[in-house]
This record gives sequence, C-alpha cells and structure tokens, in this order.
Amino acid sequence: MLPRLATKTVPPQEGLMHNKLLPLLTVIALIARIVCAQVAPDTAEPGSVEEIARATTEGRFLSPWVSYLPASAGVTSPRAFLHRIPGAPGELVNSATAYAYCRALAASSPRVRFFTIGRSEEGRDIVLLAIADEAGIRDLEHLKAATAALADARKTDPAAADRIIATARPIYYINAGLHSDESGSTESVLELAYRLAVSEQPMIRRIRASVVVLINPVANPDGRDKQVEWFYRYLKGKTDQASLPRQAPPYWSRYAFVDINRDAHQQVHETTKAVYRMLFEWYPQVIHDLHESVALLMTWNGTNPINQHVDPLTYAERLELSFHEVQTLTGFGMPGVWTWNFGDDWAHLYLDSIATNHNADGRGYETFGNGSAETMRTEQPGEETSVEWYRPLPAPAQASFLWSARDNVNYNETALLAALDDTAQQAKTLLNNFYLKGLHSYRKGLDQPPYGFLIPAEQGDPPRVAQLVARLLSLGIEVHRATSALTLKEGSWPAGTYVVRLDQPYRDYAVDLLTDQHYPKDAPEAYDDVSWSFPAHYHLAVIPTADPEVRAAPLAPLAQPPHVTGTVSGAGPVFLLKDSGQEGLLEARYTLAKFRVGLAERAFSVADTEYPAGSWILAPQPGLAAALRDAATKLGLDFASAAAVPDVARHETPVPRLGVWVPWADTDTSGWARYTLDQRHIPYSYVRDEDIRAGKLREKYDVLVYPHVDLELAEQIEGLHKAWGPMPFKKTSSTPSFGTPASSDDITGGIGYGGLAELQKFLDAGGLLITLGSGSMLPLEAGLVRGVRREAGGTPRSTQGGGVAAAAAAQNAETRTPGAHVRVSFARPDHPIAYGYGMRTWVFRQNFPLYSIPRRYLRMAYCTVCLDGPIDRSGIVLEWGDRDGAPFVVSGQAWGEENLIGRAAILDLPAGKGHVIAFNFNPLHRDLNRGDQRLLWNAIINWRAILAAP
Ligand SMILES: [Zn+2]
Repeated sequence: MLPRLATKTVPPQEGLMHNKLLPLLTVIALIARIVCAQVAPDTAEPGSVEEIARATTEGRFLSPWVSYLPASAGVTSPRAFLHRIPGAPGELVNSATAYAYCRALAASSPRVRFFTIGRSEEGRDIVLLAIADEAGIRDLEHLKAATAALADARKTDPAAADRIIATARPIYYINAGLHSDESGSTESVLELAYRLAVSEQPMIRRIRASVVVLINPVANPDGRDKQVEWFYRYLKGKTDQASLPRQAPPYWSRYAFVDINRDAHQQVHETTKAVYRMLFEWYPQVIHDLHESVALLMTWNGTNPINQHVDPLTYAERLELSFHEVQTLTGFGMPGVWTWNFGDDWAHLYLDSIATNHNADGRGYETFGNGSAETMRTEQPGEETSVEWYRPLPAPAQASFLWSARDNVNYNETALLAALDDTAQQAKTLLNNFYLKGLHSYRKGLDQPPYGFLIPAEQGDPPRVAQLVARLLSLGIEVHRATSALTLKEGSWPAGTYVVRLDQPYRDYAVDLLTDQHYPKDAPEAYDDVSWSFPAHYHLAVIPTADPEVRAAPLAPLAQPPHVTGTVSGAGPVFLLKDSGQEGLLEARYTLAKFRVGLAERAFSVADTEYPAGSWILAPQPGLAAALRDAATKLGLDFASAAAVPDVARHETPVPRLGVWVPWADTDTSGWARYTLDQRHIPYSYVRDEDIRAGKLREKYDVLVYPHVDLELAEQIEGLHKAWGPMPFKKTSSTPSFGTPASSDDITGGIGYGGLAELQKFLDAGGLLITLGSGSMLPLEAGLVRGVRREAGGTPRSTQGGGVAAAAAAQNAETRTPGAHVRVSFARPDHPIAYGYGMRTWVFRQNFPLYSIPRRYLRMAYCTVCLDGPIDRSGIVLEWGDRDGAPFVVSGQAWGEENLIGRAAILDLPAGKGHVIAFNFNPLHRDLNRGDQRLLWNAIINWRAILAAP
C-alpha cells in the first residue's frame, strides 16, 4: 500500500546531504521549503520546522510527516512542555517529565486518555496512553469488550464475530524504552502521541477514526531514570564515539539489564507484568516493541526456522506490515530501512512475543541509536550496508554520515505512522484475522490430537507441579482439575490431576510450552534459546492425551493458582523428610536455620517407607514440631515421625553464610540468580568487586556463588576499563536513581589480580566457591584449581541475541548447545549434589566453553618426560551424555555433542582447604530450569560435607 499523504522523494544527490560547505541557514531554508508544502491542512507550530531541521543531520533522514509539529490552540505540544523538540541534541527526558507531559496531553485533548498499568520494582508508575478520535475515546469500554469477544471463539461464533467487527477497531500497542540505553523511543512516542492527537492530516484522521493506539512511553521507568542520569553524568557533550566511556549504567532494574525483554514465558519483571495486564484488558492486535541496535531501521521478522505453533496468519501479517514500512520510508528516500534478516523466528520469548503467543502480532524495530543523545559520526557495521532483496536501499557506507537523536526520532515516528496507517486501512481484515487465529487454535484442540495434557499432581515435587500450573494460568492458558478419577485410553489418573484441555483459544501456546522443541539440525544458529519446553525445564511429566473423551471428563476449572500444603504426621520425637527431589529444600533449610538437620548419606527404611540418600533426619530438639508444621504448610513438604534416629551414615548441614558475587562488568545473568534466591527467601550477601578486593572473605562467607556472566576471563578479572574510572554509581543529588540495587564509588577495575588472590585465600582457608556457566572460567582457567584445560570448539558465550555477527561466529564453533535440554549422568551418584536425582537426568545448557577431562597435572612445557599427567576423573560429579545411550538431546538441538559426552557437567575439585564446584551450565537460567536448581541447592546445603571430603 502506498502512503496516502502526498510525498516528495528527496534523492540524496538533490537533497540535503550533510555537507560542511553548505551553510547551516541554507540547509534550514531548503528543508523548510520542502516541508512547508506538506503541512496543510495543519499549521506548523512556529519554529518547529527550523528546530527539527537543525537537529536532523541530512535531508534524507527526514520525512515530510515528521518535519514539523502541528500547531494546536488548546493541546499542549511536547515542544511547549519540554522547551525543545523531542530528539533535540544532547537532551533526554526522564520518566517523571515524560509522564507529566502525558498527563498534560491527556488533560488538554479529548482524544487522549491516561492510564496506570503497573508499578516498577523501585516504585515508579508504568503508564499507558490511549489515543483515538473523540468517539473512540468515549467508546473505549465497548472497543475493549469487542476485541475481548473476538479473542474467544468459544463464546463468539463467526456470525457474531462479523457483527462485532463491524463496529470494532484494531488496538495497536506501542512499547517504548524497554532497553534503557536505547533511548530514542521515548522521545519518539511523546511526539507521536501529540501528532496523533492534533494533526488534521487525512492519514492521521483515518488512524484516529479506525484504530485505538496505545502507547507505553517508558516501559521500564527505573532503567530510564538511571540511563538519563548516566547520560548527563558521563556522556553529555562527548561526540567522539571511539572515546566514549561505557554508555549504560550497570543496572536497568532491580534484577535485569538486556534480559529484561526475555521473560514472556515467566513474567518476572514488572514491565512484563504490566504488558500482560494490558493484554488481558485490551486484547490488542499488535504489540510493537521499540529497540535500537542496527542501521538505520530494521522492522523485525525472522528467517527460518519459524515456530509452527504460531498461526501462519501472524507471520503473513507481520511481513505485510514490515514491507509496508520498508516501502513507505524507501519512498521518502530514507535509506537503511529493512526487514527479515534479523535472527530466526523460532523462539517467541521476547516482550513482543506476548502478542505472538496470544494470536496477535509481536513486532519490533531496531533503529540506529544507543545510549547517547549527542550527534556523532558513528561506526557502521558493514553487513548492514549491502543491497539485498529485504534491504533495497541500504544505509550509507561506514562512517560516512553524522547521526543525531532527532534522526532516530524521524525514523521511529515515520515508520510507526506507516504501520498505523496500514493498520487503519486494513482494520477489518486485521480484526477478522485476530478472530480467525483464535478460532483456528480452538478448532485444532477439537479436531486433532492431542486433545489435552495431563499433569499428575503427585509427582516427586508437588509444589513444583503447582508452580508450573500457576505459570500456565498467568499466561492465560486455562487449566482444569479432575474432580474424580480419570480413565482415558492412555491410562488412569487419580482425582486432583491437572488437565489442560486444548479446546481453548490459546491451545497453540499451550502445545508450544508443554511439548519438546525440535530445532532443525541444518538450520543456522538461533538468536536465543532453542528449547523452552516446560516439562523439560521443570523436570515434570506432562502427558498428552489423544482421547477426545478428556472433554467429557469431570473437570473443574482452576480460578486461582494452587497451593500445596504439606503435613507433619505423628508427634516425634524424631522427624524424617523423604527426599523425592523437592526444589524447596534450600528454602526449607534456611527456614529451619536454627535447628540441626542431618542428611542421610545412604538409603534407609523406616516403617516400610524407603528413604533415599539425602533424606532429612531431625533429631529431637525444642520447638521442632511447631517449626516443621509451619515449614510444611508454607513449603508443601511432608515430615514423618520416627521413634528413634535411624541407624544410617549422615552428616550435619548447618546453613552457610552465603555470598553472591556480582561483577560490575555484567550484572544481567547474576540478576536472574539473585531473583531466584530472593523468590526462595534465601538470605545472602551481595558481594561487589570491591568487596572481593577488600579480602577477609573466609571470615565473612562459607559459600561464595559466582553466577554465570557473559564475560571472557580477562574481563572477569579486570572488569570495566580503568581508563573510565573513577565511575561512581551511587545516589547523589544529580544522580538520585543510582545506587540500587547496589552502590559503588567506582565500578571500574573489576576484582583485579588482587581480588583473584583474595579468592585464592578464601579457598586456602577452607571456603566453598561455586561457579556457574562461564563463571567457571575463573577457577578453571585462572588456575585456582589445576588439571583442566580450555579446549577449542566450544562457544564461550551464551545466547543473548547477537544477530547476524554472533550467528556467523557461532557457526564456526564445533560444539553448540544454544539453550537446549541435554542428558547427563552422575559419575559420582554418592555425591551430595546427586541427592534427589536419579542416576541419569537432563539439564539445560547454553553455549559454554569446552573443557578437557581433568588430569592429575598438566604439561608445563614441551619435553619428552613432562607430558600431561594421568586422567583423573575423581572430580567429575556429573558428566555430559547418558551412560545408557539415550539420545543426547531431550529438547532443542545440539551440534558436535560427541566432543561433550563424557566430559564434566559439574566438577568438584579441592583447592587449598577449600573446594571449587564448577558448573559447565547455568542451573539458574532466567527462572526457567527449575528442575536443575536442586543441583545447586544441594551444593549449598551440603557445603560442609563437600569441604570435609578429600
Ligand atoms: Zn533492545
């Protein structure tokens, strides 16, 4: 579709190429001449044309649609409010001012309504603007009810859908400012909101009359404010990109950094919860998330492989909308607008995927920007400048142009207007498709197996079953509970079994989450995880049924997440807790911190009950019975009485003083570890680089956990570049948002070699260091433990979406498990880390370094009598691969696994009087792989027994 507004293409050679020889006033005059003709029927706000022209570096980076601000007699413009245009050089609006403007806009325009949809971790509001014509704003409740009715084909038959669509409007949700250093989107949508509210251009009148536009101007206000303060403190006035200091603060929220957009399946972050609240209130047809990372505007669509549990109409709609944007902006002569080749379309776990997984369209832009609001000559990656079928007019070649914050606004806003125009013109089609997608999903549940999933309530860890069910409910997936015994053709299940019937609108999403993934072996490297199967993540049995009779079974819908209550049977004096793999045992241990808890080192039986190794033995202690009743109620654990302490080898498990080291150079994945511990109410100390450097670690901690970090060894030691220091991150009058969740006088310099020596002293003095994922590089490669060598062929980084470049790099690696569930076997089934698991299980693995099997010692230099020492497998607790030969991959995909099988997944190596437990995977991946967590909890609970071993 062509843009309906009269446009004039400005080819670069005729236009306003940035040219030092061209006097500034000439540039302004030329731009003004071009755009003034486009303004009618609007009147330009006096001065706005010149100000926008001055902030735009080249004429080809501007469209007539956004080359002026429409004047309005009664409605407050962002320029009047901010005393500058959005995207003015060297300025960024913080959340309070952005919200103040939104309130002023809503107060002055009958076409705008202001809502609050959430509150951030640090207590800032998360807000939403709704924009439509006066009739639309008056009818918002009716319009919301219409899309809600279209979302559920069980309640709305096709004839009723037709009647509803006749008066309904598509709802288009725009999400700005999620990644805080991608700072231009907030500026862009403030101006977009005003333009939509006041412009009388035919195109915009049509958008107002046909669409409800929702704008979340600051999706993550905590990060926005930290970023804005960071800009003014460290970046303002600096225009040489090569010499810029770090462009982002160490935190964007309490727990997250870039990963804040990766929790569509788990709803961890408040920003995500707010979008879900919006989803189930408004039932939008599009969720559009604004990012900045590539030149000059990439409108998201993925390459193969695509996810087959997403309706084909969604892919078709997303491509149509994107090519409309490419066409429109290319028509304006704006270079560098493209689509398609930005990673795969396999995993839908991003914030925009909330739409894709719910029969709507998840969309996104990557524009050119990042961090600074200053105008700079930027470095330009080469591959974005080639002509391709999906990029007909690429960005200018490397380092040939200046780029400004306003250029970024021009691209964002013009493309969003094109998308909204396209939406308005096909409003009824998009609504009908939305209805059809829900209908297709529901009909599949009626017409083809599986017809449902059965989730037995009484599996090894009933609270974890409840957690899985709660997560499904929060995602909008309906779950029932059998009110009597179920007999289906696959077998029988008792009353209380959870049942996910698939005759529901989000059937496709339920199937996607509850079955394993099979990423094609011949496909390119994925952008993120290739597996997210909930049964694999939770280590739970979820059974598909091909019996349509499941629909006729006696089932009651679950309205609330279930809570499992445990029991304490008998009056003691001894109590036993059977270890059946409960994830809650770490929390239970800390809940019972003041009591002595012995753990059996061998299986035993009492009164015909078998207790495996790892089961708890609680000797008589004052107040124990009451404390156990509390723990049982809260944590869903069952304690049984015994007359006497059973005669079995056991060890005591005093709770350790726990430290979690979070390096300033990468707080993102450590954030997930902290989140998980906080959810379990585990007390721990947040250990900063400077706390490591300060030493005396053994006096403060028994166990130090070093989570996975996306850093190579040198970065793990040396941290952020010292040349940038001192770089304080603490609360001051000019940086009131700094200093949370941790504060520092200087975040540069890492732990340094002095800190590394302190870690060695910690081990020498008998501490337990537990390292996860790439955190294991530090002890293994810096020599805190010996005998293991890093080998070629592993990809050292996890999958945090590096796009084309990362994919190309990863393709060269031989062994890859980019976020897959793969099998492991216990090499030492008697080790405390094995408690609660069978001999063989599986874990979730991203791409981590490949290490040799340990040897007694490694060759120091080449000579005929000083070769590597003999292989010593005694430190291998868990190894990659299934010793009985089951296929390596449970869900996802792996490449080159033959290099991995038999090597260590978990090492326990002595160091001084201490030990290092090194994981070659991350058991705390984004609060997803809950079935893996016990491996880490076991190491923490049994720290003393691990240290006592030779
Ligand atoms: Zn981003």
